[in-house]
Amino acid sequence: MSEAYDAKRSTHETPEPAGGDDPGALSDRGRPLFVIHEHDASTHHFDLRLEVDGVLRSWAVPKGPSTDPSEQRLAIATEDHPLSYADFEGVIPEDQYGGGSVIVWDAGTWENLKEADDGDPPSLAEQLDDGHATFRLDGDKVHGGYALTRTSDPDADEERWLLVKMDDDDADARRNPTSTEPESVLSGRTVAQVGDDEGEGHDGGGSS
Ligand code: MN
Repeated sequence: MSEAYDAKRSTHETPEPAGGDDPGALSDRGRPLFVIHEHDASTHHFDLRLEVDGVLRSWAVPKGPSTDPSEQRLAIATEDHPLSYADFEGVIPEDQYGGGSVIVWDAGTWENLKEADDGDPPSLAEQLDDGHATFRLDGDKVHGGYALTRTSDPDADEERWLLVKMDDDDADARRNPTSTEPESVLSGRTVAQVGDDEGEGHDGGGSS
């Protein structure tokens, strides 16, 4: 299920959870989960994760989500993560995949926005297979419709997508929550505080 995830981790050497289906602090929300981790790795980025068919489908989004429909945000598909990763916060050792500090920057549930001409609408998994998915996010910071559109060839080594806010009542070109709301929705800590609290030899540098 998450073999690529497990293969990249030695569970004796990283505080990250091993594979599992329990989203911990984020369980029992009644709808499939989404999580946006902020990850202060060698290159600072956000990780968008959507619960689809029992795993967290994942994209690294260098600038994070925008609330402005005119902004297109690059999203690079990464390996599926287990549901148990949803509430992870902590410091990943440098020699483990990615390294760096992680917080749960936002979390909530998602809803399929695709409507069918007749019958059942395509599932999110089917939409992602087709390279274009629309869904509504209901988090603490991020709300409303988003579209993910694959821009790379399906056979390319790196799957590149664009994450764009849909033009709905929640669109707001003036908000910039990735800058103005930096605290974890679980612990209230910033990613820098997690590095200071839990990091060994965290140099605070090397990230943009
Ligand atoms: Mn990451």
